[in-house]
Amino acid sequence: MRALVFDNTLRFDARHADPQVGDGDTLLRVRQAGICATDLEITKGYMGFRGVLGHEFVADVVESPDKTLVGQRVAGEINIVCGRCDLCVSGLSNHCRNRSVLGILNHDGAFADHVRLPAINLHPVPRTIDDDQAAFIEPLAAAFQVLKQIKLDGRKWVTVLGDGRLGLLVAQVLRNAGCPVRVIGKHPDKLALCEKWQIRSRPLDDIIPRHDQDVVVDCTGSAAGLELAVQMVRPRGTVVLKSTFASGKPLNLAPVVVDEITIIGSRCGPFREAIRALSERQVDVTSLIYRRMRLEQGVEAMDLARRPGVLKIILTME
Ligand SMILES: [Zn+2]
Ligand SMILES: [Zn+2]
Repeated sequence: MRALVFDNTLRFDARHADPQVGDGDTLLRVRQAGICATDLEITKGYMGFRGVLGHEFVADVVESPDKTLVGQRVAGEINIVCGRCDLCVSGLSNHCRNRSVLGILNHDGAFADHVRLPAINLHPVPRTIDDDQAAFIEPLAAAFQVLKQIKLDGRKWVTVLGDGRLGLLVAQVLRNAGCPVRVIGKHPDKLALCEKWQIRSRPLDDIIPRHDQDVVVDCTGSAAGLELAVQMVRPRGTVVLKSTFASGKPLNLAPVVVDEITIIGSRCGPFREAIRALSERQVDVTSLIYRRMRLEQGVEAMDLARRPGVLKIILTME
């Protein structure tokens, strides 16, 4: 099969071995997949992953122990879990001690013709959601996770830091939850999207941190984001961290102590809510697509995705 592989270098492989389908595995034929910041970070060493990249996808079920799935168009949760460890048993299976993660940790990803996942990870995609939108189900679910982790009622000042792919999803989700959210970013065209969605926005250059925000959600994808978030949040406020990045940077944590700030890490989220929101047209993801490219152009597509200001690049497998 064709695949985009990272093994110290990123390369397109026209004759990659097909996935070995084990007991309980479902074999999928990928239709489209989205490139995200995590994929870019992996090529800089994040997680030390080697293999086929890609974890935001829509696919058709080819073979499955669950016969009701065969022929269905699906999106897939990315954590492959054991179901037996203490965390799985206590309902925290996304944190399974024995997990692998699609295209991120010990499991080949979806930038390929075929990918395998357990049937339990799969969610049928309703007809009301097209392939372009379906490729956003995984990152949109991650945006919904913020609502699972913090209570927003009564919080008046909420800032999303970063106008990238994830920040623009988080902003829409928070706005829909009735939250008066504001986006801080560097790119005029993306801040113009906020205007189109009637979400307030400000250029980063205009910001003087005043320790006055109730909640700051860091979607910058950089270590500098947390530093700024800590300066923007009020004493006893909350910083939600959505950024994953390869570089560790020393950080002065004294303001966290002095201002008694709560810092919450946030990763994967609820697929059902993301599917419902797309199906009901509550979130605009189509405007986030920068370009559609073929899997063969994967290396070029990743280079393009790395450029500042470039939003979602969709890889198509046709
Ligand atoms: Zn992602
Ligand atoms: Zn487990």
